[in-house]
This record gives sequence, structure tokens and C-alpha cells, in this order.
Amino acid sequence: MIILSGGTGSPKLIDGLRKLIPDEEISVIVNTGEDIWSSGVFITPDIDTVLYLFAGILDKNKWWSIVGDTHHTFQQMKELGQNEILPLGDRDRAVNLVRTEMLNDGLTLMEATDEISRRFGIKANIIPMSDETVTAMIETPEGRIHFQEFWVTKKGIPEVLSFEHEGAEKAKLSPAAKSVLEKEDLVIIGPSNPMTSIGPILALPEMKEILKSKKVIAISPIIGNAPVSGPAGKLMASKGLEVSSRGVAELYKDFIDIFVYDIRDDVLNPEELEAMGIQAIALDTMMTDEEKRVNLAREILKLF
Ligand code: GDP
Repeated sequence: MIILSGGTGSPKLIDGLRKLIPDEEISVIVNTGEDIWSSGVFITPDIDTVLYLFAGILDKNKWWSIVGDTHHTFQQMKELGQNEILPLGDRDRAVNLVRTEMLNDGLTLMEATDEISRRFGIKANIIPMSDETVTAMIETPEGRIHFQEFWVTKKGIPEVLSFEHEGAEKAKLSPAAKSVLEKEDLVIIGPSNPMTSIGPILALPEMKEILKSKKVIAISPIIGNAPVSGPAGKLMASKGLEVSSRGVAELYKDFIDIFVYDIRDDVLNPEELEAMGIQAIALDTMMTDEEKRVNLAREILKLF
């Protein structure tokens, strides 16, 4: 089974899935559109979250970073006037340093991810969407900024005039992603940000076409008219999209078979989706604890 993932909503679902199926049977195609270089280190936040999840060291309160990590290096750098965008923990930085060294030695991001997975003893197949650089850039009234600067430094406050996945049209789906998509028929689009997490994966040439030939289930990250967390609403609005689960379904309608929306959602009209040939299923998608994550995963597995 393949899951398309960002770094929060989909990892919650994967956390549930891995209680029901062996890690060896899970392939995750991960967004790399939020990657950033910082103080000589290449940080790929969504891949790290998925790596740490499978390695059993993820901080599941934040859904990023390593549980119990310290921040001595970050603090010392700050005291020296080096203001990093992402407050990397020490162990987290160590993983990123090892990756950067591998990339500097000529490994692709896929090869580096594979090697780090192996060293962590991970059995799942964690696949960067592309080996090439794709970057979410946000156009604000004060200028064009990296997504991380918008979301972390500026706390998502600036008005969003537009945004784009710079490099996506030229980037290729990673060979590993292509190969797993050739073998597997079932794809879950996790409840990740449709703009900055799933958007970059879908923006890669071929991806939408490939999905048309698969059985695809998408889970909405939006309930009613608001995302569970994060900037998805603001970014969707900047593209003129309705901020709702219906807006998400509209984005995915050409290649999904089943759309899962939340039982609390009063915006989505299942008949509208059924008329487009998409099965609409209402489930409790709020994955606030492990039991809820497993329950949602179990219900989704029944849909295949
Ligand atoms: P990012 O890479 O950290 O931005 O993470 P993702 O894109 O993977 O996840 C962010 C999205 O997950 C947001 O749009 C949230 O609305 C959604 N999300 C987070 N937790 C949940 C949840 O428990 N249920 C659902 N349905 N969506 C969630």
C-alpha cells in the first residue's frame, strides 16, 4: 500500500495503519516541497517526521522532531547571532548533518533516505517524491518568501497573494516512487495539506495520470470550513478555492475513487460527489489519540 504524505495529518494515519499492517507493506511517498538549507544543513522536515515515526522516536505531541531532544546547538548558535528558521534539536540536527554529508558525497535524496532508514532499522519504504528540488514559495505584500519563513518565522500572518511549487514542472518523480507506483494498486492520499504537502507531489509530471489507474482513497484534512491545523485554508483561499472538504474533493476529483470526510462535516454533500462517480464516506477523522488513529486506519482498510 502507498500513502502520499506530508508531515502531520498523514503521519497520524500511518501511526494507526502500522498497528494493523506490517511496516514492510507500507510505502510512503513523502513531500519534499518544504525542504530548506539552513546553516549548511539540508533539512527535509516531512521525511524526517516519517523517519522518526517508523524509528519510534517521533515527538507525537508536535508531530515533528525527536521526543525529548535538547536544543543546545540551536541556543548556542542563537547566542552567536545565527538566527535559524527551524529550531532544530540536537539529535534532529545530527540526522540532518549525516544526510547532508551523504548528499555532499553524491548520494541522491532517495539513496540518503534509504541509508538513514536502514541505520534506524526501519522496514517501511520511505520515498522522497523527487530527487530534484521543489520549493513552496509564497508571494506576500512584502515580497516572495520560502514557505518555512512564512509559516515558522512569520507565523503564517502575512497576506498570501499567491504561491507556487518552484521547480515542480522540471522535477521528476523519483525513480523509487515510480517503481513502487508500478507495483502497487492501492494509494491513500492522507489528510495532509492539499496545497503544500500533497500539492507538490501532484504537481510532478505524470503523477496525476498514474493515480488515474489506481484505486485511490483521499482523506480530507478540512472539516467544515476549516483545516484541523495549519495554513491550508489561507493557501487554498489564495488560489480562489473554497476552504472546505468540498474544495479538497474538487482538487482531487479527477483521480480519486473514494473521498473520506469527517462525520462532523456539514458542508460536503455526498450526493455531489456520487454524481461525479466518487464514493463519499463519512468517518471520524479526528486522530487525537492512538485509539482514534487505529480506528480510522481500520475503517479505511475496510474500504479497499
Ligand atoms: P505539514 O507537512 O506539517 O504541513 O503536515 P501535513 O500537510 O501532513 O498535515 C497538515 C494537515 O493535516 C492540515 O491541513 C490539518 O488540517 C490536517 N490534520 C492534522 N491532524 C488531523 C486529524 O487528526 N484529522 C484530519 N482529518 N486532518 C488532520
